[in-house]
Amino acid sequence: MSVLFMNLIDSNYLKKFKEFDNHKLVIKIEDASVNLKGFIAIHNDDLGLPAVGGTRMFAYQSETQALKDVLRLSQAMTYKCAIAKVHFGGGKGVIIGNPKTDKTPNLLKAYAKKINELEGKFYTGEDVGLTENDVSFMLKYSKFFIGNPSLAGDPSPYAALSVFYAMQGAVSFVFNKDSFSGLKVAIKGVGKVGRTLAKLLFDAGAQIYIADIDETALIQTKKIIKKVEIVNPRKIHSLEVDIYSPCALGNEFSLKKAREIKAKIICGGANNQLAEQKVGDWFFRQKIVYVPDYVANAGGLINVVAELEKDGYNKKRVLNKIFQIKKTVINILNLSKQNNKSTNKIADEIAESYFKGTKMK
Ligand code: NAD
Repeated sequence: MSVLFMNLIDSNYLKKFKEFDNHKLVIKIEDASVNLKGFIAIHNDDLGLPAVGGTRMFAYQSETQALKDVLRLSQAMTYKCAIAKVHFGGGKGVIIGNPKTDKTPNLLKAYAKKINELEGKFYTGEDVGLTENDVSFMLKYSKFFIGNPSLAGDPSPYAALSVFYAMQGAVSFVFNKDSFSGLKVAIKGVGKVGRTLAKLLFDAGAQIYIADIDETALIQTKKIIKKVEIVNPRKIHSLEVDIYSPCALGNEFSLKKAREIKAKIICGGANNQLAEQKVGDWFFRQKIVYVPDYVANAGGLINVVAELEKDGYNKKRVLNKIFQIKKTVINILNLSKQNNKSTNKIADEIAESYFKGTKMK
């Protein structure tokens, strides 16, 4: 089916939302027979097609909330692709529903068929609420899924690794040291990314504090880390630690919450951490080093899009590319200092110079 016949959302309607940033394509997906409802958005494809980005399944409270999320997340993917020097556009899919109770094989099959209707303009994979097994299942119905368990697989260990390298860059900038020994790190959300990150940091000598609203996630983390302190999820951001690492969901920092931060560095895996860009300016004025989320967590993307490389998936190349994130972070932090500008603005400017300009092409 041509994209023209899909359930396109009119840009005049989308202009009402502050999250709308001249997205190239936003479609509503619906199949009442299997309770499928959600959105797919392609933000920008100036760096090349396909657009790429995971699919999130979440119990959104309304369609509007889901639409706003897909607009925000797809925009972040454009910036993430650019900063990671990946020649693809930014896209995202969201499915409205509780992954624990509403995810059925028929729903996943219907979603895969919706992806086919985009005829390869959008490749997707797992995000919060979907698993490697779900991707494997949907690959039976659509070739436009990445994160194939026999190739790149689950992106989360690679996202955690990139956060780890990003943190190393920030630590060398702020504390002028190469190791984590003696540093206290608080991690909010010990799901797939947060848990792996906690282990990497513990093994590197850091003292770890964790919080999660899910008891199972805490138990699983305690199993792999010998010494870890569990903290109230409402308080973890305000601990007296060196580094705060948000690894739960987005919208972590309102200005009010930002004022409670005592850490010197913020660096985590969660997407869209700043509720507003001005929170980044506030961090900058307070001399709190905020590592932009899409820079820190780009490892997951780098891993899965490697499946689309002409000569095939190459793990060594993936790991080399993820290691470069440390340098990218140090560069952003230096430019932020030299130009007296927040790190989020500097990162956005670099990304925009790639996807709006000709720098990377
Ligand atoms: P996940 O669902 O496995 O883990 C998230 C964890 O956060 C869960 O254990 C959940 O219980 C916890 N949580 C949710 N709300 C919380 C709260 N208010 N307080 C404390 N804990 C809370 O998801 P994930 O794959 O680990 O992803 C985490 C974040 O990283 C998301 O924002 C995701 O978009 C982002 N991210 C993930 C990947 C990836 O490859 N998985 C890649 C890049 C970015």
